Amino acid sequence: MGDKQFNCPQCGESTDTLHEGYCEPCCSGNQAALDDHNHQHDRWARLSSTERDVEIKHAHR
Ligand SMILES: [Zn+2]
Repeated sequence: MGDKQFNCPQCGESTDTLHEGYCEPCCSGNQAALDDHNHQHDRWARLSSTERDVEIKHAHR
């Protein structure tokens, strides 16, 4: 063991274990970003069209 090394495609660090194709810190970082994105998406999906209009107006004020 320990003779297999991979390079993380995201940060370029060498790692002996890939998680979803990335080193462990990148994988957990990506997962957190994805969770946040999904959270935002879910929240937006639950808004009615009037509530979306209000948010858009606030964003462009
Ligand atoms: Zn990495």
